[in-house]
Amino acid sequence: MSDAFSTARDAFNAWRSDYPVDLYAADPHLDLVNDRYLDDDRLAGVREMGAAFGRTVVEDLGPLVESYQRHDPELEKYDGLGNRTEEIRFDPAYHEAGALVWASGLLRDAGTPGLSFEQATTFYLASLEGEMGHMCAATCTTGMTRVLRRSASDEIGETYLPSLTAVDYTEALRGSQFLTEVQGGSDVGSVASPAVDRGDGTWRISGEKWFCSIADADAFLVLARPEGAEPGTRGLGCFLIPRHIDSALNGFSIRRLKDKLGTVSMASAEIDFDDAVGYPIGDVSAGFKIMVTAMLNTSRWMNALGDAGIMRRAFLESSAYARHREAFGQRIADFPLVRRQIAQIKAEWLATLHSTWHLTALDEAVDLGTADAADTAFHRYLVNANKLTCSLAATQTVRESLEILGGNGAIETFSVLPRLLRDAVVYEQWEGTHNTLTAQVLRDLGRLDLTGAVIDRTATLLKGIADPELGRVASRALAGFEEIAFETRHSIDSPAHGAMHFRSTLERMVRAHQVALLLDAAEGGGPLAEELAAAAEFLTGRYLDTGYRAEQDPSFPSVVERLLGNDLD
Ligand SMILES: Cc1cc2nc3c(=O)[nH]c(=O)nc-3n(C[C@H](O)[C@H](O)[C@H](O)COP(=O)(O)OP(=O)(O)OC[C@H]3O[C@@H](n4cnc5c(N)ncnc54)[C@H](O)[C@@H]3O)c2cc1C
Repeated sequence: MSDAFSTARDAFNAWRSDYPVDLYAADPHLDLVNDRYLDDDRLAGVREMGAAFGRTVVEDLGPLVESYQRHDPELEKYDGLGNRTEEIRFDPAYHEAGALVWASGLLRDAGTPGLSFEQATTFYLASLEGEMGHMCAATCTTGMTRVLRRSASDEIGETYLPSLTAVDYTEALRGSQFLTEVQGGSDVGSVASPAVDRGDGTWRISGEKWFCSIADADAFLVLARPEGAEPGTRGLGCFLIPRHIDSALNGFSIRRLKDKLGTVSMASAEIDFDDAVGYPIGDVSAGFKIMVTAMLNTSRWMNALGDAGIMRRAFLESSAYARHREAFGQRIADFPLVRRQIAQIKAEWLATLHSTWHLTALDEAVDLGTADAADTAFHRYLVNANKLTCSLAATQTVRESLEILGGNGAIETFSVLPRLLRDAVVYEQWEGTHNTLTAQVLRDLGRLDLTGAVIDRTATLLKGIADPELGRVASRALAGFEEIAFETRHSIDSPAHGAMHFRSTLERMVRAHQVALLLDAAEGGGPLAEELAAAAEFLTGRYLDTGYRAEQDPSFPSVVERLLGNDLD
């Protein structure tokens, strides 16, 4: 055999073995964001938990996930005797993986307000595997836990919360959320499923739900319209529907499982309800508000955590590959185009990490009930705007990283990247499409008069950068941000025009906030300060400084090198 073959294959093996065993220790940027928001005791706890779970992800979760990706769940409507069961069969490894995710304490932590960073760290680490099959279930179960904590009667809370927050997967209750109907997902106000009051504390729910993820869940949170309620979102009630009542199926049947692009290990279905018993959660005329504030805002936060994990993995895969793969007699890491591309992947990952950890702080304060009016307003804005920007960036980043692997990037058995790409696209679609999030933020900014608060926060952060070198980048970002602020005000004053253009304005608004957070972190000093400052400068040139052309900036290569640090050495 030619030496060339074995040399190339050795390089592949070296690339694979570069994957860290301790995902937390290998990720000083993750530790830095935790350090920015947590006191010493809590940080020590997160480090310990992250080190243990990070190893589980690499040694156990990853191989399990890999083993069942080709085995789609199957619907078994009847058992062998012809009894209707509506069971979904999974590869046994799927449940083994679920047991690991649940044992991490991710769902236990959902039961107690004030543990959002613990949840964020676990979710991020698990997302490095692209195992959205269980992360979707964990998201919906966290959302249901919060809905019940905040709005359910004591009786419902006492019945369901202990199992929703169990760490033992075999005993745990997993939740799902069904809003979308065939006539509309974004337009939740079009929900037509009727709910009839039985007068005994229960309601009967009927209707067809078009997108039902975690179709094997033990309980579903469903939006339905009480008889005689007004049309639109205001007339909707939120109901908890158990899968079984006294071991019998509770008035539902699964039409079929969806054949999906991504998140394929998890079962998404079309489900019919026919007089299913439902328990009202909170005021039956406030179902939409309950669902948005506790459920959808949680999902949008967790969605971005997943994006950050996906992007971290994309960076790990492509940077290690570039260090080992050779072309034209040199490491591909030494080609300037490759260096620039990997620097961009890193900048996008860091930006998502910092804005999503900032959102985590707000999420925790809102969940604890300690957020003041300004924090509550900023949370309302950021949870939507950040989901939009980070999910778009995740897909783009995985695509860029897949490209670094060349043809091998397109091969399912070669790396995790094809799975990450498919899951990232699904992440873009669920929990609010880009356009609907944009429309909602624009509406919120005008209707709730949030513009000042949102704009001031980023501007204040940028103006507060005192270090002269960092301040130079902050000034450039601030100049771009003034244009963004102008466009935002114009969009609110001229809604017809704004509705057409606001999405790009909004994305740049999030970019400005990300740059401000990166500069603020850089100003804190430490070994990562140089990389953070370079990431801020890179993103400022890419998104905020409209007159900037990297092609005309002789210092651009040094920005790339400072951003990369020794990642490609
Ligand atoms: C794999 C998967 C799993 C899912 N699981 C669930 C689930 O468990 N529970 C659940 O309830 N839903 C679920 N969904 C549904 C998902 O939330 C919806 O698909 C999403 O909300 C969009 O709704 P839609 O598909 O009806 O698109 P539409 O609402 O028809 O939107 C079509 C297009 O029109 C645009 N649009 C709509 N309104 C506006 C507007 N006001 N301004 C500008 N543009 C607009 C949208 O951005 C989009 O580009 C899932 C989806 C997927 C892909």
